[in-house]
Amino acid sequence: MQITSIKKHRSLSGQRALVRVDFNAPIKDGKVLDDARILASLPTVKYLIKQKAKVILVTHVGRPKGKTVSSLKVGPVAKHLSKLLKKKVGVVSVRGAASIISKMRPGQVIMLENIRFSADEKKDSGMLAKKLASYADLFVLDGFSVSHRPSASVVGVAHLLPSYAGLLLEKEIHGLSKVTRKPKQPFVMIIGGAKTATKIPLVRNLLPTAEYILLGGGLVNTYLAGAGYGVGSSLVESEYMKEAAMYCKKKKVITPLDAVVGTRDGKNFKLVEIGEKAHEICKKGEGIYDIGPQTIELFSGYIEKAKTLVWNGAMGVFEVEPFSVGTFAIADMVADRSTKNVCYGVIGGGETLQSMELAGRTGDIDLVSTGGGAMLELLGGATLPGIEALCS
Ligand code: ADP
Ligand code: MG
Repeated sequence: MQITSIKKHRSLSGQRALVRVDFNAPIKDGKVLDDARILASLPTVKYLIKQKAKVILVTHVGRPKGKTVSSLKVGPVAKHLSKLLKKKVGVVSVRGAASIISKMRPGQVIMLENIRFSADEKKDSGMLAKKLASYADLFVLDGFSVSHRPSASVVGVAHLLPSYAGLLLEKEIHGLSKVTRKPKQPFVMIIGGAKTATKIPLVRNLLPTAEYILLGGGLVNTYLAGAGYGVGSSLVESEYMKEAAMYCKKKKVITPLDAVVGTRDGKNFKLVEIGEKAHEICKKGEGIYDIGPQTIELFSGYIEKAKTLVWNGAMGVFEVEPFSVGTFAIADMVADRSTKNVCYGVIGGGETLQSMELAGRTGDIDLVSTGGGAMLELLGGATLPGIEALCS
């Protein structure tokens, strides 16, 4: 499958480019609290301006579920983008955009109102996609983090217009292909986090190509519970017990040697060795909330040798002290290894990025994927409908 970069388009001047971005930023009191997602697509927007295209941005904010929700209007995002571009970015309703677009000048930028205000964005019956397509000469998909959504503004419109990958999408697809296609060995995958349902496909799909898969977080609790250990009130997703246990038996799947257990508020905690024989790791009212020091040491041995290194999912509840130790140790090790030019380091996932940011090491990582769920699906072996639509 081959996507075509927007850079391959020879004559963008005066062309109306409909650009699907993910500017879903947290907004409070009319202000954008975190502009990482806006910054990530800024190169694409700037490129289109420089090429004198007429830029029509499409994004969603939050989950308005097909209805207009005034706190989720894109106004604050457009205002923030205006500041970054030093250029006015007006907001227009999807329905009333035609006359404004017809008066646009080359290099001008406008933003359509929150696309998820329309129920047809998710349903994609064809009406919204048709309307969007009627506004433009070409389509650019830049929001990698929405490329797993079969929505009107991601997939529907791509089938109706000549379609291209924006610079962010191109960068992410190119970077992740270094993981999915013949990764440099040893390829070490580190998986943690809470949502076991989204992590199991990762283990399943990467088992053949990864040299080692290091596990922490909720997935481990699920495996331990399945193997007969007492895990008290730990986060467990019982429907995955069997599958988790099956993977954890494999030689290349490395599970923790010790765990930090305690109460969820972090007020009481202790270190417990896991050992090979099932036993009670903690009682009801207590849970496994982090990996222990022996596990950190064990994992470091694998990370230090990796030539491809991918990390998704916190090792513990890093938001609560003292359960942050494992996650920050891994963050540091991944960052250290990623700075070596013999190793390609990738991180992805909302909380994973957040913990790397807190560790102050984001700049050391080769690819910081904005993908979240899309990255997990891609690494889990799924075909992303947005990417597929660009290729057809
Ligand atoms: P990401 O957003 O990076 O893909 P997830 O959304 O799957 O990761 O999970 C991140 C969350 O997992 C973190 O907020 C963290 O508190 C939680 N977590 C990690 N380990 C545990 C654990 N042992 N028990 C409960 N929650 C955990
Ligand atoms: Mg998350």
